[in-house]
Amino acid sequence: MQHTDKTQALENKKIIKQFKLAAELMELHDENPFKVRSYANAVAALELVEEPLETLTQAQLEGIQGVGKGIAAKILEINEKGTFAELDQMLQVTPPGVVEMLRIKGIGPKKVRNLWKELGAETVEELLEACELDKVSKLKGFGAKTQENIKQALLFTQQNRGKLLYAEAELVAEGLLQSIKAAVHEAQVELVGEMRRRMEIITQLQFVLATGAPVKAHEALQRMVELREDEKASGPFAWRGWLAETGMPVEVRLVPTERFANELLLTSASVEHLAQLFTASTNLLTVVRGQAYTSEADIYKSAGMAYVAPELREGTNELELALQNKLPQLLELSDLKGILHNHSTYSDGAHTLEQMATYCRDMGYEYLGISDHSKTAAYAGGLREGDVLRQQKEIDELNKRLAPFRIFKGIESDILGDGSLDYDEDILRTFDFIVASIHSTLNMDEQRATARLITAIENPYTTMLGHPTGRLLLRREGYPINHKMVIDACAANNVIIEINSNPWRLDLDWRYVQYALEKGVMLSINPDAHHTSGYDDMKYGVLVGRKGGLTKEMTFNAKSLEEVEKYFRERKEKIK
Ligand SMILES: [Zn+2]
Ligand SMILES: [Zn+2]
Repeated sequence: MQHTDKTQALENKKIIKQFKLAAELMELHDENPFKVRSYANAVAALELVEEPLETLTQAQLEGIQGVGKGIAAKILEINEKGTFAELDQMLQVTPPGVVEMLRIKGIGPKKVRNLWKELGAETVEELLEACELDKVSKLKGFGAKTQENIKQALLFTQQNRGKLLYAEAELVAEGLLQSIKAAVHEAQVELVGEMRRRMEIITQLQFVLATGAPVKAHEALQRMVELREDEKASGPFAWRGWLAETGMPVEVRLVPTERFANELLLTSASVEHLAQLFTASTNLLTVVRGQAYTSEADIYKSAGMAYVAPELREGTNELELALQNKLPQLLELSDLKGILHNHSTYSDGAHTLEQMATYCRDMGYEYLGISDHSKTAAYAGGLREGDVLRQQKEIDELNKRLAPFRIFKGIESDILGDGSLDYDEDILRTFDFIVASIHSTLNMDEQRATARLITAIENPYTTMLGHPTGRLLLRREGYPINHKMVIDACAANNVIIEINSNPWRLDLDWRYVQYALEKGVMLSINPDAHHTSGYDDMKYGVLVGRKGGLTKEMTFNAKSLEEVEKYFRERKEKIK
């Protein structure tokens, strides 16, 4: 059901990233604002280009509105050399630590320039020290609050260095798996560890390699250009080191062929899963150590239980369920019938309503829920009342044309500071569904954040709770919430919770999926797409749902068009 080429989008992203960085560096070095602007415009234009930029000629590139002669030439230069001279020159005169500071949320290149030039901070460590010595707050335009934000952001970055999002690691891991298979002939190799358990953040790539010739295999790994060995950490049964390009830790366990299944299980489960006793004296470790098995299923079978999928092996209640043969039938991507929570050019999306709809239909889905930003989200082009009515009129027209495909009228309403939704009732009642999300004033304690969410959940117009914590993995911690209280409120008010499937969010966290299911709260796999290619992110939401034990029955957008239509209608009719 997918027809976007991920690698192609990725190549474009790499190119766009370089122009973004160049624009930031120019601002940092206080260059001509018009030039900075032309780069920013080019970035916006390139983000809309569907075809691979590396296939376009100079003339075709210049034909893209917002891309001038100079930028077009630089794209060709990137295609050829992987970078462009102007960017390289700027990087050469900027300390790497200062480049890293550009990634701190909430401070732009101009502020980074002050930190660098006035405090002399050239590394992240020096900047952190300056914060601790209370020097940053004394700079013009900074203050104590900005200093604290910078400090928190730096600590967060330090903790997360060398880690990747699942979606980023996926491409790297798949590529490396193929390279290892090619390098070590006649070996059976499998990707295990955090990747196979579908963790949202990956700190290491781990593989199991079965071979009768471990010494030769080890040597073959040493010769791989992608890898650098950590000789001290490696041994006869494990190759350890890093990816040469990024420094990501890699481990390849070498086992004899007859121990392959045993090792797969040992490396694809949490310690809790392996160590939990399921009889007075037996756990999976003792079962695995007992003998060699032909498959993981064989191991579970001999433990007297059903096969547990790797993503469920977290030591919660999965062993109990497996013993009773009551494990859930996990959701599949192909179970999904429609796509809810998406943006269009009415707010901050890249594609028009019609493009978003036809693309969704052509992927084989039955319906699309459009939920652009609401009026308070002015920074994201939030819809004023007039825009809402104009969009709904367009939806009516498209629905006639695209039938039986259907677009549902929604909005992603900001949850205001006091927990209320963003429009008056006469507008709220025009929507088929409302996703309620927090986007501003994120600096809250748990009590305040929880109360704000619950007020929104209790609003009868709220259909669905959007990204409950607002977290951006590896970038920004979410505001703290009491998940159980929020889920209880959703249960009491019949509100669906989304699993925001954007790889940066994956929010609701999988650790709370099971609790939501126990309370009878339905979950919706929402891509929060701002671009037609954003629909592809739903697969990450499915992985999160599966990890929490989500079934098709409890997934809202696994419902058919008729069922969803009925659900929205009946829910609205209940509002007094
Ligand atoms: Zn949002
Ligand atoms: Zn959104």
